Amino acid sequence: MNKMINNALFAPVTDLKGVGTKTAADLGSLGIYSIYDLLFYFPFRYDELQTLPLDQIMDGQKVMLKGIVATEPFVSRFGYKKTRLSFKMRIDHDVIMVNFFNQPWLKNKIEIGQEVAIYGKYNVARESLSAFKFVAAKENDSGMAPIYPVNRHVKQKKLVNLINLAIDNFLDQVQDIVPLQIREKYRLLKDQEIIQKMHRPKNGQEAEIAKRSAIFREFFIFELQLTLLASHDGKQEGYPKKYDLKEIANLTNSLPFELSNDQKRVVNEIFADMHSPGQMRRLLQGDVGSGKTVVAVYAIFAAITAGYQAALMVPTEILATQHFKKIDELLRPLGVRVALLTGNTKTLERREIYRELTDGTINVVIGTHALIQKNVIFKKLGLVIIDEQHRFGVGQRQALINKGDRPDILAMTATPIPRTLALTVYGDMTVSEIHHLPAGRKPIISAWKTSSQMKEVYHLMHEQLDQGFQIYAVTPLITESETLDLKNAEELHKKLSHDFPDQKVVLLHGQMPGPKKDEIMTAFANGEINILVTTSVIEVGVDVANANMMVIYNADRFGLSQLHQLRGRIGRGITQSYCVFVADPKTDSGKARMKIIAATNDGFKLAEEDLKMRGEGDLFGKAQSGLPEFRVGDVVNNYNTLVVAQKVARSLVKKDPELSDPEHKALKQVLEYKQLEQNRI
Ligand code: ADP
Ligand code: MG
Repeated sequence: MNKMINNALFAPVTDLKGVGTKTAADLGSLGIYSIYDLLFYFPFRYDELQTLPLDQIMDGQKVMLKGIVATEPFVSRFGYKKTRLSFKMRIDHDVIMVNFFNQPWLKNKIEIGQEVAIYGKYNVARESLSAFKFVAAKENDSGMAPIYPVNRHVKQKKLVNLINLAIDNFLDQVQDIVPLQIREKYRLLKDQEIIQKMHRPKNGQEAEIAKRSAIFREFFIFELQLTLLASHDGKQEGYPKKYDLKEIANLTNSLPFELSNDQKRVVNEIFADMHSPGQMRRLLQGDVGSGKTVVAVYAIFAAITAGYQAALMVPTEILATQHFKKIDELLRPLGVRVALLTGNTKTLERREIYRELTDGTINVVIGTHALIQKNVIFKKLGLVIIDEQHRFGVGQRQALINKGDRPDILAMTATPIPRTLALTVYGDMTVSEIHHLPAGRKPIISAWKTSSQMKEVYHLMHEQLDQGFQIYAVTPLITESETLDLKNAEELHKKLSHDFPDQKVVLLHGQMPGPKKDEIMTAFANGEINILVTTSVIEVGVDVANANMMVIYNADRFGLSQLHQLRGRIGRGITQSYCVFVADPKTDSGKARMKIIAATNDGFKLAEEDLKMRGEGDLFGKAQSGLPEFRVGDVVNNYNTLVVAQKVARSLVKKDPELSDPEHKALKQVLEYKQLEQNRI
């Protein structure tokens, strides 16, 4: 893919010396594919390596010591494959012993008389330093060690080495993408300085300054993508859809319920957009269970009666399958061909779908990222719907939209965010909102229980199970470690199987293959499973009316919005539902969160609270707040920067819509690269 852009910077990481396909695959799991990606993979924090005079160091304290190598480093072996590299280091008038364990290769890096800085744990009695980190003094004596987000495939140390390698060999090829005039106006660093100072800051202040520029740069790219998306797609021009109200009346007549007033209003707003010559760009916000899917079905059917095809893209396999079933059930009787396309669609079937999308036999396709693959070619795509749209990158959305000729666009989200913020992170979209749940729903009864109150919780569970209802038991997603998630869920599964021996207790988790997940979900939907233990795979969209109780374990480790989303899986039938949040929060904000979630069912209000708490640096609120995620920036805390970036991006695109000015060449390349990268599946 990188061949398309003629620039060494965008070459795959395997172009680095010593990086093979295994390392490349490991880096891919962090979203790092190219040298460019490595250079801009910034630390999320720094360990400040403290330096102290020898006589002020306490026993066992971690410090950085600077001195001069006084003896030839010597490697001794002990135990099985263990080594110790030792040498004496002179610090003013004192001499201490330095020991590195299992890093024998450092021997070649250390010479007598060399000035070095070494980070480690100090033993006062032995006057020795058990060293972790070697820093040649000239290179960097800042004492700021960058810490990067890593996973089980890539270790911190390895990543640091690779990034250093990339900096040493490629930094001089990095060109600025923020135009000079803007950089001067907002006092921003050049791209090379950003890289240098983010990865190797001299001190905390330098890191802060670099971060400010890095945030702007990240937002600037994002807002440019958004702006280009809006203007490339036909400068707001689209095609009026002459839908057939008579046929649409058939849909209305076939529904088992009447639309709520909010739904009716929103359908009318959408129809007005579709009917007008302008391209629809509408964002539909509505709580979980508020009935957005039916609204989408109206839009889809309208587009089809006007002679167009429609596509609905959703973030997960489970959700795609569920949407497909629901929509197929509603539209097939009206003569509509509905197809499902995901990563798990079998080759033969997939080819058939490709063909029938191209010849127009299929009217609407529902799927995951599989929809943006290049083999997917529509005959006449007139409507693109993106569910849970914050889960998709701008490039991914664009890729789907580009499959039509200025199609109407409807984005949907169950995690509402304030309007002003929506405009800055989603671009020019008109917002529609569904505030009230369909009539006849009983509000879910929620409670916060501590783990010492499990007896009460079990009592309620037994009561529900005895009446033939089903239960979700959910454990948190701890984003740092998939394996840990799984362990939590497996343990809970074991425990509940033991505690409820008469019930069928089944585990469903995100690492299962798609067909297996579907099989379990189907069994659950058919009432063959009593208690379903899950991680947050079931976060969005799953709909089983007979499941009217949910127990969320370690609930304080979820963000409010996600708790609310999870809770939305129940309360879908006509019977009374219960949601129990089990948590023993230690912090005040944790306790406050549990109280709020137990007390309110209003998603708009919870989203607001979630945003407020994010401001306080709530770790687990982040991934689930309905906002796109950035590497360095934070749309809430750095909102003002985001607004400036949007303004700058818009005026730039206005002046130079094709980015053909030579001054914008580097910028254009980065955007092209981003586009390729985001379409990676
Ligand atoms: P969302 O996508 O907003 O989370 P859904 O569209 O899945 O919500 O709707 C939730 C449930 O409510 C579905 O089972 C749907 O059939 C039902 N539903 C939708 N609209 C109405 C309505 N007006 N009256 C009764 N039930 C409705
Ligand atoms: Mg939905």
